[in-house]
Formats: sequence, C-alpha cells, structure tokens
Amino acid sequence: MSKNKSSESVKVVVRCRPLNRKEESNGPAGSIVQMDLRLGQVILRNPRAPASEPQKTFTFDAVYDANSKQGDLYDESVRPLIDSVLAGFNGTIFAYGQTGTGKTYTMMGAWFDPQKRGVIPNAFDHIFTHISRSQSDRQYLVRASYLEIYLEEVLDLLDPNHGNARPLELRESPESGVYVRDLTSCVCKSIKEIEEVMNMGNQARAVAATDMNEHSSRSHALFLITVECSQPGPDGRKHIRVGRLNLVDLAGSERQAKTGVQGERLKEAAKINLSLSALGNVISALADGRSGHVPYRDSKLTRLLQDSLGGNAKTVMVATLGPASQHYDETLTTLRYANRAKNIQNQPRVNEDPKDALLREFQMEIARLRAQLHHRKWRTKQKKEQVDGEGWERDGDEGTEGEDEEDEEEAVEKEAEEYVKQEQRLEREKQDIREDQFMLADEKQRLLGEKERMMGVLRKEQEATEQLTAKYKAMESKLLVGGKNIIDHTNEQQKMLEGKRHEIAEQTRSEREIQQQMLVRDEETVELRETFTSLQQEVEAKTKKLKKLYAKLQCIKAEIQDVNDEHVRSRQELEQTQNELTRELKFKYLIIENFIPPEEKNKIMNRLTFDPEEDQWKFQPLVPAESKSSQMKKRPASAVGYKRPISQYARVAIAMGAHSRYRAENIMFLELDMTPPSSASLDGSAQSERNQSHSLDNSPTKDRSVRKSRSWCQTPKSITSSSSNVSLAACHTATPMTAQ
Ligand code: ADP
Ligand code: MG
Repeated sequence: MSKNKSSESVKVVVRCRPLNRKEESNGPAGSIVQMDLRLGQVILRNPRAPASEPQKTFTFDAVYDANSKQGDLYDESVRPLIDSVLAGFNGTIFAYGQTGTGKTYTMMGAWFDPQKRGVIPNAFDHIFTHISRSQSDRQYLVRASYLEIYLEEVLDLLDPNHGNARPLELRESPESGVYVRDLTSCVCKSIKEIEEVMNMGNQARAVAATDMNEHSSRSHALFLITVECSQPGPDGRKHIRVGRLNLVDLAGSERQAKTGVQGERLKEAAKINLSLSALGNVISALADGRSGHVPYRDSKLTRLLQDSLGGNAKTVMVATLGPASQHYDETLTTLRYANRAKNIQNQPRVNEDPKDALLREFQMEIARLRAQLHHRKWRTKQKKEQVDGEGWERDGDEGTEGEDEEDEEEAVEKEAEEYVKQEQRLEREKQDIREDQFMLADEKQRLLGEKERMMGVLRKEQEATEQLTAKYKAMESKLLVGGKNIIDHTNEQQKMLEGKRHEIAEQTRSEREIQQQMLVRDEETVELRETFTSLQQEVEAKTKKLKKLYAKLQCIKAEIQDVNDEHVRSRQELEQTQNELTRELKFKYLIIENFIPPEEKNKIMNRLTFDPEEDQWKFQPLVPAESKSSQMKKRPASAVGYKRPISQYARVAIAMGAHSRYRAENIMFLELDMTPPSSASLDGSAQSERNQSHSLDNSPTKDRSVRKSRSWCQTPKSITSSSSNVSLAACHTATPMTAQ
C-alpha cells in the first residue's frame, strides 16, 4: 500500500499476563513467552519442539510483560492517541486475544484500585483533566455511548429496556462514516457522570448474560466517546473539532468448535466468531495491500471499525497473551494476527467543522434561548414603564451578545426581584382601593378585578420566564468551558511530576524505535563489503554471518511450515463446516421437494429478496404498499345506493312503481319474435343493430325501434311489426346492462 504523507500505520502492542495459580500448579514448564522490553520483542518457545528448534521472535511497537503496570501501558501507548482524539482525530483502541488473557483487565481493569485501572477509566481522567486545564475560550461537549455485538446483533447497553430492545441497524453517511442508528448517547459533564454511564452499561451487559464469562467471551463491547471542541479561529469565528474514540473489548479469539452441531446451534456457532474472522480477513486484505477488495461488509464489527482499519483514524491494537504452555497454538495465532496488523496504513485527519456536530446545534439553541430571555426582559421593562410611568434603571451591558454568565445570572436574579416588587405593588394598590371610602362599590369592584387580572398576567409571565431560564441553564450546563466547569485539584508539584512521567514514557518510546531501526539496519548491512587483514579473519567473520543467516533461514522455513499447517487445519475445518451445511441443505430440500406444492414454492420464491443490510432473506409484501389504494376498485358513481350499477331504463322503471321482485334489477322483458327469419343485407342489419343499442341508451319514453319490447312493468302488447335482427336480440329475455 502506498504511503502518503498523512498515512500512519496501526500501532500494535503486546501484553502478557502473569501465570495464574492454576497454571503455576500445573507444572514447572513455566512461561513460554519471553519479552525484550527494550527492543519491543516477543520470543515464543514451542513447548513441544526439541530444544534445538529456533524460537520465534516477533517485534512490535511496544511489549508489556507480566510485571507491567496499567499506567505504563497507558502513558506509553494510549496517551498519545487520546491526545490526538482531543485534537479532533478519530481514535480506536482494541484489545484482541484469547479468553482469559487480560483483554478486559487491560481495557477496564480493577475499578477501585487506582493502580489497576485500565485504559477506559484512565481515558476518562485524561479527557476531563485536559478540559479542566484548557483555555477558557474553548467549549467542549462530551458524549458517551456503549454497545455490544452479540451473535451479529448490535445491542444498545444504555437503553433503559435493554433486555427487550430490538437490535440496532448500521447506517452510513458521507459525513460521519458508518454509525449505529438510534444509539443512545449521553452527554457527560464530569468523570463521575461518564463512569456512571459505563457502570450502567456494564450492569445491562451482566443482566443480559446468563453466564457472564461465556457471554463476555463471545460478545464484543464497544464504548464510544465523542469529544467536540469549539474554539475561536484566527478568522474570529468559532471552529469545531470532533474527535471520536472507540474503546473496544473484543470477544475471545480462540476457535469456537463448530463441528458436530446442527440446526440452530450450528447457525449460532457460525455467528459467534463471524465478526472476528471477518476482522482477520479485513486485516489480512489490508496488510497484504494487493487485494483491492476489503471485506468490511462481512460483519457488523468490521463495518463499525471500517474507519479504524485503513481509514480516517489512529488505531492502537493491544494483543493479549497468556504465558501457559498449553495455549501455545492460540498464543502463536494471536502473535501472527498482531504481526499482520502492523502493516495496516491509516489516513487520519482532523475532523474540522463537520456538519453533524452537536455542539453547533447546542450553541445555536443556547443563543436562541438567550435571545428569547432578553426579549422577555425587554417586554417586562416596557410594561413596567407603562404601568408606573418611570424608567427602568439602565444596565450597561443589557441586551448585548457578549454578556458573560455572571451578568446573565445577576440579570436573572434582578428580574425575579422585579417581579416580586411588582407583585407587592399591585397588592398594595389593591389594598388602597379596598380602603378607599369615597369610591363607589361598583367602581371598586371593577378596579379590583383589573388588578387581579394584572396579577394573573404577571404570574404567568414569571412562570414562563422561569421555565425559559431553567431550559437555558440546563442547555448551557451541558457545555463544558475550558478551565471552568471542572476544577482541577492537582497541585503544581503533582502536575510537574505527571509531566515528567509523560516525558519519560515518550523517551522510552523513541529509544525503542531507534533500537528497532538499528536492528533492521544491522541485518541489512550483513552483506556489505568489509576489508579483512587476513584470510583467517575473513573466514571467521563469514562463518559467523553464515551461521546467523542459516538460523534465520531455519526460522523462516519453520514459519512456512507452521503457516502451511495452519492453512491445512483451517481448510479441514471449513470443509467440515461445509459438509455439515450441505447435509442440512439436503434435508431442507427434501422437505421442500416432497411436502410443498411446486406452485406454492414458486410463489414464495418469487416474493423473497435478500436484504444485505440485515443479512437476511425477506418477504416482499403481496401488494406493494403505495399502489394498494390505487388498485382498490372504486364503486361507480351511478351505483350509489344500489346493489349494482344500474341503467337509466331501470331507474325510470323504479320511479314508475316497480315490480317488487325485480326492484333495482336491470331486467327487461322482451316478447318472443315469432316471425321467420328473413334475409337482410349485412349493412342493413348493422344499421338496425346500431339503432337498437342507441335506443337502449335513450329514455324509454322516446320513440324507439324496440317498440315491441316491454318492461316488466308494462302489460304485454301484440307484436305488430319487427325486423329479424331485433327479434334476435329479443331472444335474450333478460339482458343485464351496465351503465356507462
Ligand atoms: P479476558 O477479558 O481476556 O477474557 P480478563 O481480563 O478477564 O481476560 O483476565 C482474566 C484474569 O486474569 C482476571 O482475573 C485478571 O484479573 C487477570 N489478569 C489479566 N491480565 C493481568 C495482568 N496484566 N496482571 C494481573 N492480572 C491479570
Ligand atoms: Mg473479557
């Protein structure tokens, strides 16, 4: 993959947990993982191989052994990433590894022990401390969401009815990439609040899981933090930067046994690791760089992490290992996986002034509320002037946009006082009216009523203002102002200490980088020409190099063998799964072919469509929803009130007093024509037929060619004359007709 200026690779760090008690008691085999912290190398020993076999060495951006502290990992590998998020980059940290190797310990840690707090709580501290120490011209909005992916379903952990909630859908927008629709997002104003959000999510997760261990090893947990920061730019306008942080605790990477299960359980087993195997495929495709297609859409997890892998984000992967010898294969797989991820290139950039920034909306809403409050104040002032004719003492800063918050609060208080004063004055006036003995009772009553009404209006006004003020304050309290809303209690000495610690971490990192570069250069310069003083010396030097290269060759050969073995293993597994699926398919086919009528099957097949968003087959509705109404036949206007459309003839017949039996029926009686058929020219018959149809449309009172026909309401008359074609028509004794 081409490296452009702004691209940077995914940082991969490896952490190995200490041996636990059970592993220690298992035998003296000890740890199979050795780490060189200075060089960032992991050396893995194969417990089953002979001692002569070379050990496997992997190099990473940093490695953390069993004695490493949570703080070390955070300061060296995570802090720079969180700093980037605060500067407006997208950032992702994900923990990958076998169950029980310390993913949750690394991400979450032991909550109540400050030394053992993991990446997530440390990130909370980091973000809010940064806000408390930043300049006061910055405004921040921090939001948090928490979700999990279980059996390929995205579940909102902050939804109050998490248990019954429907799985969420993924959507994509050009602005913010892939996102989860309707995901709960909580505005957090302090560390305490964001910790509460997290505990709430953790509880929901624990409640949903019958067996927490099993569940957490099969589900992916994503904690998402969005930090929006508004800051005045050189152009005097406020610019917003949005940093999104994904903190991901992945499901256990061990292979789930899929063989020997059927039906629902097979489907479930296939889904358990679908996201993880898709993640592996995405990493391989990206690391390879040659394949154009990256299968992000294969799973929910890879779609959500699309930006973090090969996109607009800075990413840190923490691969966790266990040191026990019985997990050698899994450990090796994890190391290979991590090794591959190192080659992924991302293109992070600052998200400046995105259209969907919530902070902008908040700022606009606050400005609107403030304007409303000002308007209200102004109106009250006007009223007061009207009432008592004197001017309101002027506030110097009144009505100006730049008014700061103290003044705002003062003004609100002043206004409340003013309301009280006005109320007292009205009360006094009422009292005066009551005590006035010269006033007529009627007049008194009228004036008192007037004052009462004024008091009512005043009270309503006051309530509305209070509501508006409360809304305004609530909105404004959600925004954090740099160095104001959160007070930083750390003293100078502590701050200095912190600074030094960060410096040291930075130094360690750059030292390691230099060491690694030296190592690479060392290997590259092996074949450089050297001058030797004697032949003997040359032989010695070259033998040494040969040995070194031979060892390397052996390592690579072993690696190739391993990779081959692994491929064979996974191919066998896939074949087995395929066989089981084929068997299942045959079974379903048998049922369909033998027990479902072919036409029914075809009907169903024609209605099925595949929904790639939800990864499911769906039935199309029988009648497309929008054309439903247009397909419904309307009753013709002529048939209103009748059983069926009715002809003019029948209508007249009804009006004339109908035969009750055929009421409203379009039936007419025609006499049988007894005259023998005569041969008439075709033209003539056509003509008379036209006449007849014409007459049927005409009113029966008019002169018609079907004179001998009679309706059911007429008495039969003798037939005088007729033409043969009319008699043909008369053969139909009853001719139903439809109007129009
Ligand atoms: P995972 O989430 O990968 O399944 P856990 O984080 O639950 O694994 O870790 C399993 C156990 O190992 C826990 O009891 C945890 O406290 C312990 N553990 C993991 N990593 C470390 C470590 N670096 N130092 C001390 N204990 C650890
Ligand atoms: Mg876990």
